[in-house]
Amino acid sequence: MRKENQKQDALNYHSKGRPGKIEVIPTKPTNSQRDLSLAYSPGVAEPCLKIAENKDDAYKYTAKGNLVAVISNGTSVLGLGDIGPDAGKPVMEGKGLLFKIFADIDVFDLELDTKNVDEFVTIVKALEPTFGGINLEDIKAPECFEIERRLKEVMSIPVMHDDQHGTAIISGAALINACEIQKKKLEKAKIVVNGAGAAAVSCTKIYISLGAKTENIVMIDRSGVIRADRSNLEPTKAQFATTRDIHTLEEAMKDADVFIGLSAADVVSVPMLKSMNKNPIVFAMANPKPEIDYELAVNTRSDIIMATGRSDFPNQVNNVLGFPYIFRGALDVRATGINEAMKIAAVYAIAQLAKKTVPDSVNQAYDDNNLKFGKDYIIPKPTDPRLITSVAPAVAKAAMDTGVSRKPIEDWNAYIIELRS
Ligand code: NAP
Ligand code: MG
Repeated sequence: MRKENQKQDALNYHSKGRPGKIEVIPTKPTNSQRDLSLAYSPGVAEPCLKIAENKDDAYKYTAKGNLVAVISNGTSVLGLGDIGPDAGKPVMEGKGLLFKIFADIDVFDLELDTKNVDEFVTIVKALEPTFGGINLEDIKAPECFEIERRLKEVMSIPVMHDDQHGTAIISGAALINACEIQKKKLEKAKIVVNGAGAAAVSCTKIYISLGAKTENIVMIDRSGVIRADRSNLEPTKAQFATTRDIHTLEEAMKDADVFIGLSAADVVSVPMLKSMNKNPIVFAMANPKPEIDYELAVNTRSDIIMATGRSDFPNQVNNVLGFPYIFRGALDVRATGINEAMKIAAVYAIAQLAKKTVPDSVNQAYDDNNLKFGKDYIIPKPTDPRLITSVAPAVAKAAMDTGVSRKPIEDWNAYIIELRS
């Protein structure tokens, strides 16, 4: 009954008043005939001429610099699968809403009716004049890898596929903190990654950048352990192939320190969990149902650190901790892309924020008066107002340090005050 109510509530939320969740609002006065003649003809010709002389003036005279495209073809929407671009639109509008409320970034959501990689790349590339950045969303693997790689090559604005890198950044932050609490070294941790799709591949790559060793990683897909002797492996999977003589998740879990689930519900059993090393770290991130039920896992192992993708349990790995602020930082220095250094900077900024005293406003929002760094609080909460001033400057600085910034920040104090306002 409650679930039925929730479903109806969700439909009403979307249909009430003006349908959908976002609208366009003018940012300049429009009260008089004079205002209108400046906003449009004839006045508008002046900024046009400036931009015609110098393309970069688009950042000065148009909304480009604060405008991100959330672009999807609807082939891998939430946990719903290939439901198509029309059905994916509520998610893309939702992402626009989150960009706006958390980082004051404006979004046009674009749902493309194509599954063809070449066509997708051609369309998005041609949109470069409109946008300051491109957030690719809910595109299925393996196409998502090629689409992102090619667009990064041909575009000189930030392009990021959030399902890959957002998840990698947030779970990477959670992983380094969990290792610290469990007194494990990431360099030595035996890691099982269940799933070999968009999220799993990108997460594993970032864990390696953070110190994990490829030889300590076992990755598993629907056909079992990704082994070097398996035929017809896609290159994205082959890079993680193991030469160890193990074939199943069950075998891989024995004595593992870390389990990363980016696959499907309920694939981890109680005996598997029991067979893990002491102080295990389990990130069961399949949505909406994790690889093992939260309560079952924490009741089975009192020494566990457990995270999921769900908001109703501690340690939610939620991309909203990352993408608004990663794009904020990248846009603010007019970065030409989002590179590894910027992602790693975001990881550490998020991880470090979890160690700081939690403000009362966050405790109150979660009906908790004592959130503090530990097993049940390894990453910040999405409503933490300090995320923007922690993550965006870290990303901006990394962009400047790696030479991809076209508009360096000169006064960091002023920047942080501006971010707060
Ligand atoms: P994807 O690209 O479709 O990849 C799914 C992967 O899981 C594939 O490699 C698939 O194997 C594998 N898989 C499915 N069932 C499996 C099973 N029973 N045993 C082993 N492997 C299995 O999807 P994705 O975008 O990476 O997302 C994967 C899951 O993670 C989804 O449930 C998604 O909701 C969740 N996720 C959560 C977060 C979060 O918590 N923040 C973020 C991103 C994704 P094959 O390659 O053999 O098909
Ligand atoms: Mg997504």
